[in-house]
Amino acid sequence: MSDNTTTRLLIVGGGPAGYTAAIYAGRASLAPICIEGYASGGQIVRSGRVDNFPGQPAGISGAELGERIREQATTFGARMATAEVQSVDLSTRPFVVTTDEATYRTDALIAATGARPRRLGLATEDEFDGMGVCYCAICDGPFFADQRVAVIGGGDAALEEALQLSKIARSVLLVHRRDGFRANAGLRAAVARDPRIEVLVPYLVDDILGQAPAGVHGLQLRNAQTGQCRTVEVDGVFVAIGHEPSSELFRPALATDSHGFLVTADGSTATNVPGVFAAGDVADPRYRQAVTAAASGCAAAIDAERWLISGAADDPWVSHAVPAPALPAARQPVAGRT
Ligand code: NAP
Repeated sequence: MSDNTTTRLLIVGGGPAGYTAAIYAGRASLAPICIEGYASGGQIVRSGRVDNFPGQPAGISGAELGERIREQATTFGARMATAEVQSVDLSTRPFVVTTDEATYRTDALIAATGARPRRLGLATEDEFDGMGVCYCAICDGPFFADQRVAVIGGGDAALEEALQLSKIARSVLLVHRRDGFRANAGLRAAVARDPRIEVLVPYLVDDILGQAPAGVHGLQLRNAQTGQCRTVEVDGVFVAIGHEPSSELFRPALATDSHGFLVTADGSTATNVPGVFAAGDVADPRYRQAVTAAASGCAAAIDAERWLISGAADDPWVSHAVPAPALPAARQPVAGRT
């Protein structure tokens, strides 16, 4: 692709949502360009095994699933650009997207930039990032073979991480701030059965203890009910406390909810800027599954195609000061999530 490429549809994001949008747009002969980051595939590549994607009765690794959806998109004429998007200008049409490699002008755009792990917000979390502080057991678990690790969190992801790590580590401490886990019953039962996992509730992480360059050697914890503090010795800590939408590139032009998720019109993927559609985890505070991301990618491609063939892209540009769509009930932030 040249330094200055014009296209009808640009998809920003290379995960199940972006790649599925690329499949549908490719089949609709839109020859879309999909900009995938340098770590292509999205969050799904962090899953060692995906058992709940339809059509995969024997399960499939997240990396293979991502690669297969991507390959399917290129089969139908989607072009992949591996680059980092630096800016998105939605104030003018065609929209302008600048990456570290090229500049793109596009009539329509699908935002599918996904989400990233939420952080605890401790200074020592940054200090020991990569030196014992991790966010993905599939990716980094093997570094802790026969060592002691802690997992922080009480959702599906945290319990999955704990179970994954218990196959590798000597011991796993599951630390959660409340007595109750929000993870599903199957995961809770599996954790309860696992002799290598010890559950420590209700505890808050006050600090991550360590020393450079050796890295993490413990956690400073505080009981959320009694305030009593204690120290535990661990060699690594896996933070699994949810995700935050990667929506910064599109702000403030695109409306977001109070948690930063892109807001779409009820029943469609349209954002408040005509010609811009949103798909996947960047616009989904509720379901956040590979299959729902893929489904919304499909919907966004269909919405974009209909918008393009309606001729709206050729209308004289009017300011994008379109009122933000009202937050429908299904898009309200989920109670209890921080
Ligand atoms: P989540 O469901 O939002 O859970 C986040 C957990 O982290 C909660 O237990 C929360 O505590 C805790 N937490 C949040 N902020 C915290 C903080 N600052 N300090 C300490 N703890 C904090 O996130 P998730 O587990 O990543 O799951 C996200 C979505 O993906 C969910 O819809 C989930 O069902 C889905 N998922 C599904 C699977 C599967 O089906 N196999 C696997 C992984 C994820 P509280 O409970 O006290 O709020």
